[in-house]
Amino acid sequence: MKVTQDLLADVAEVLLTEEQIAGKVAELGQRISADYAGRELTLVSVLKGSLPFMADLMRRISLPLRIDLMEVSSYGGTGTESSGLVRILKDLSAPIEGRDVLLVEDIIDTGLTLNYLIRYLKGKNPRSIKVCSLLDKPARRLVEIPIDYVGFEIPDAFVVGYGLDFGEVYRNLRFVGVLRPEAYES
Ligand code: 5GP
Repeated sequence: MKVTQDLLADVAEVLLTEEQIAGKVAELGQRISADYAGRELTLVSVLKGSLPFMADLMRRISLPLRIDLMEVSSYGGTGTESSGLVRILKDLSAPIEGRDVLLVEDIIDTGLTLNYLIRYLKGKNPRSIKVCSLLDKPARRLVEIPIDYVGFEIPDAFVVGYGLDFGEVYRNLRFVGVLRPEAYES
């Protein structure tokens, strides 16, 4: 992969603007604040793609809450395909037993990663576990999992920005966009 100097030049289309994302994150934060009032909320985010979403969402939730971070990687996928085999690179740093856990995800594509994570986290005996994903790509779903809070449903395209990468690049774009084919091919 070439080292990209002009990130914007590689973007074919902006799917979600910075303003659209900010508006949706505020809306999700309000819903979550209302739904979890008086409860013991722990937000668990999955590095690295969910980092900007987690940082923005937590500041839109008006409840006392804890955060924790996990990092997973899938074995053997290609640059734009998930393999479904998940390896935990970083586990939770505190117990979640008895707590209400909200798993904060960047995107649900096949659902394989989420399916694995939910089963793994349920094994730690939380009081409840729900999912909040900024993006949902239902066209490629292989496992049906209820997503309790969804930001945007998007078409079947490989997207980058607002945390999402291609080859670890483009995470710092403030919008969500689709890359030009040339950016994949080089
Ligand atoms: P799943 O297991 O649901 O197929 O995929 C989950 C992970 O694959 C996401 O957390 C994300 O890291 C990656 N992923 C899936 N679709 C996309 C996409 O369109 N763009 C990027 N950058 N990553 C994706």
